[in-house]
Amino acid sequence: MRLGGFEPFTASDFPGRPAAIVFSQGCNFRCPFCHNGTLLGQRPAAELLSSRDFFAFLETRQGLLGGVVVSGGEPTLQEALPGFCRHLKEMGFAVKLDTNGSRPQVIHDLIEGQLVDFIAMDIKAPLARYELLAGKAGAAENISSAIALIAGSGVPHHFRTTHVRPLLTDEDLRAVLELVPPGSAHRVQPFISASAFDSTLRQAL
Ligand code: SF4
Repeated sequence: MRLGGFEPFTASDFPGRPAAIVFSQGCNFRCPFCHNGTLLGQRPAAELLSSRDFFAFLETRQGLLGGVVVSGGEPTLQEALPGFCRHLKEMGFAVKLDTNGSRPQVIHDLIEGQLVDFIAMDIKAPLARYELLAGKAGAAENISSAIALIAGSGVPHHFRTTHVRPLLTDEDLRAVLELVPPGSAHRVQPFISASAFDSTLRQAL
């Protein structure tokens, strides 16, 4: 895995479990409100965290942490993700996947392989507004597939949306909620840091 970094402890990112968070390097979206700008593109190998070093850290936390959140960036872009998750589970950690939902086939394979214990998927916007809110055209079909797949998987999950005013209007938020299948939880996260707006957002306002 290409890993951009990790946080050794979180009490709030993996429901019900104290966990570490590891951030995969690289993302196929360009959300204008992204807080993880250093994780979006490629970086020299010397700047990356090796999986071996991360696993070595986790060995010191066995029995203390219940899980690992695999976040990003977008983890499903990486071919090594299934093996990485399998290794985490073999070490005794539950695995939570944070995903933008752009690669439903990868999510499907992780679920089929019983390699994830919780999934959090961002729904960035109404499908018709992904190009603006995620910087990605043509994402609608995969986003719809991922929502249905996760909701029907039996794997604990929730969907979440960052409410970036004024780009995401109240009407947009209602449209997002209509995408959430009955029985699935959805969280709205307020966008706080105005300084994180990039030029894409400023141009759109
Ligand atoms: S999907 Fe996540 S990591 Fe990727 S650009 Fe959007 S907010 Fe940033």
